Amino acid sequence: MSSLPPIREDRIICELPLYFTKDAALHTKDSFHVTVQEACQSQKSDPVGFNVAKVIVVGDVGVGKTCLINRFCKDSFDKGYKATIGVDFEMERFEVLGVPFNLQLWDTAGQERFKCIASTYYRGAQAIIVVFDLSNYYSLDNARQWLEDAMIDNDPSSVLLFLVGTKKDQSHPDLLAQMEHEAIKLSEELKAEYWALSALSGESVRQFFLRVASLTFEASVLAELERKNTRQAGDVVRITDYHNDFKALRKKQANCCN
Ligand code: GDP
Ligand code: MG
Repeated sequence: MSSLPPIREDRIICELPLYFTKDAALHTKDSFHVTVQEACQSQKSDPVGFNVAKVIVVGDVGVGKTCLINRFCKDSFDKGYKATIGVDFEMERFEVLGVPFNLQLWDTAGQERFKCIASTYYRGAQAIIVVFDLSNYYSLDNARQWLEDAMIDNDPSSVLLFLVGTKKDQSHPDLLAQMEHEAIKLSEELKAEYWALSALSGESVRQFFLRVASLTFEASVLAELERKNTRQAGDVVRITDYHNDFKALRKKQANCCN
């Protein structure tokens, strides 16, 4: 039996990583939800099914999606541009609150040109990362469209959105300030969390993905617990319904004898 190598130390999350900016955070709590912490305590001895989350990365061609994923997953940066071909995904292993958790990071490959297939691609995603280029104003305009498209096939209450400005290293400070202002406004409007980073220098890349892993993990655990509760509540309802049906039947039988 082949055994996996141990999880990298810098992928072990014991505390909730902080947001990039309070003005555009999915939530601003400084620790994991208490219910999640408790569930993880018992989860260690009784594993259940919230271990893999699908995360998709979308945005215009050339904004830096592939470089961003490569910087995090391989800690490398390739200056030459290579268009992504086919569908690529990287599996990144984490451990959150002592529980193994994987992110399946899907890199859009050419889907930029075939938006019509996007819905198949988006389906089942727990998180969507929309990338724009902080040195190109138009890419932010398009990010709005990407976010809206991504939401067509998704229930806003079950998918986490992240709006990420890349190439911070090459954005002029004046443009950067203006872009950030607009991006934060857009994030608030679309309930996305905003981050600015650079795949070239690596600035904020790791913090960003640890935040994605943590918030996705937290949401998955809460959803799983809610599903469990609903299932249990469903059983109670079924028993009650059965009981009512039985009473109605008895009444009918009693009436029929009169
Ligand atoms: P994709 O089409 O969105 O996947 O874009 P790529 O990741 O392939 O990147 C497109 C181009 O932008 C490449 O030439 C990269 O070298 C460049 N690039 C990507 N990220 C950065 C960054 O953070 N800083 C700078 N200066 N260039 C970047
Ligand atoms: Mg690419």
